[in-house]
Amino acid sequence: MRAQVFHGPGDLRDETVPVPDPGPGEVVLRVDAALTCGTDVKTLRRGHPVMIPHVPTVFGHEFAGRIAAVGAGVRGLREGDHAVAANSAPCRRCALCRAGRPNLCEDLLFVNGAYGEFIALPARLVAENLVTLDAATPAARAAFAEPLACAMLGVERAGVEHGQSVVVLGHGPLGCLLAMVAGARRARVILVGKRGWRLDRVRSLGIAEVIDATATDDLVADLRAATGGRGADVTIDATGRPEVWAQAIDAVGRGGRVVFFGGCAPGTTVSVDTRRAHYEELTLLGAFHHTPELIRRAVELLEANTIEPEGLITRRMGLGEVREALELMANGQALKVLIEP
Ligand SMILES: [Zn+2]
Ligand SMILES: [Zn+2]
Repeated sequence: MRAQVFHGPGDLRDETVPVPDPGPGEVVLRVDAALTCGTDVKTLRRGHPVMIPHVPTVFGHEFAGRIAAVGAGVRGLREGDHAVAANSAPCRRCALCRAGRPNLCEDLLFVNGAYGEFIALPARLVAENLVTLDAATPAARAAFAEPLACAMLGVERAGVEHGQSVVVLGHGPLGCLLAMVAGARRARVILVGKRGWRLDRVRSLGIAEVIDATATDDLVADLRAATGGRGADVTIDATGRPEVWAQAIDAVGRGGRVVFFGGCAPGTTVSVDTRRAHYEELTLLGAFHHTPELIRRAVELLEANTIEPEGLITRRMGLGEVREALELMANGQALKVLIEP
């Protein structure tokens, strides 16, 4: 089969590799749709010790397709079933798993290989994080389950409720998914981005009120003005930039919640106004990854048309064009690229 194989930072190769055979408990999925992700761009540039501990490996981690083969001992799944899998599975045994926080599992098993015609799913992933789909659900939509579940975790951590004001900083695909999920909870959502065709595209999708951060010299004042002078009930950073984390803290109102969704570069810090943190009872929260429960709920929202993320796909390309697709992502020329192996 054809596959895009990651050999190390900057080294992605178009190769022919054997079609995987499922071992006991495993499933092999025919990939019908894979999506590019900002994480791919970062990983290709500098590697990723957590998501990709061993090379070479087939690259890519957002995918959906049909079950091509089932290993011994797998129950309830059949060849031909449409399915989507997350890119990781928790161990269910560590302290954090037992505490009900499997997204923080100390032994998360990561799976890569979306950019190939077939992908082998290890037994733990099959048991924890493989969800079958209605045959009518387009694979391109189902492939959003993983990033959507991450966005749902962020919104859940924020405790977003009907009628609250929610500011999402960052107009990349995850900023947009966060805005969609908060909107589905009937919050008033303001999405902050930077001028350009991507922001125009996001505006045209009508998923939130949009503010152009490059059109103001005091974004925080504008956000406070837009929220009745009080500041937002919830602010969420989806940029992974420390200066934007600081804006998220500055733009939240009394009693508000700030979610640090975007991961920043190692070694960076932000400072917190101690007076505000204390007297205004600010809640500052991290949000990382997803859980098996949220993967299932993400599939439900996608299949119920509650979340319709296809507008975030700005290009469709073939398996041989993954490198080009990731360059488009890196240069801000794509939101998400759909790869159809
Ligand atoms: Zn991703
Ligand atoms: Zn665990």
